[in-house]
Amino acid sequence: MMQQKRFTFRKKRVKNKVGSNQPIHKMADIDDKTEKNVPGKFYVDCNCIDCDLCRETAPDFFARDDDEGVSYVSKQPETDEEIALCQEALEGCPVQAIGDDGE
Ligand code: SF4
Repeated sequence: MMQQKRFTFRKKRVKNKVGSNQPIHKMADIDDKTEKNVPGKFYVDCNCIDCDLCRETAPDFFARDDDEGVSYVSKQPETDEEIALCQEALEGCPVQAIGDDGE
């Protein structure tokens, strides 16, 4: 019987300048915001790969730009609970395309 090959996916680790093997956390770039973000603290940048995770995590605050195939912040959170939900979406984004240093 043929043995099935197992695939495992690991976060890519890159040595930083001081030689540490910690993963490098790339921040979203406020200068690369996608078009439809509403003004405010949270935003999505053009690194979005349209995976849908943020829209599932916080559907009241993230929406899809169907023309561009990216997410954007459709409403800024106001309460602590809403902010925590958006923060959860930020932390879950696989390509760090969500920023929290917007204006
Ligand atoms: S979680 Fe990140 S990559 Fe996925 S849709 Fe949202 S912003 Fe885009």
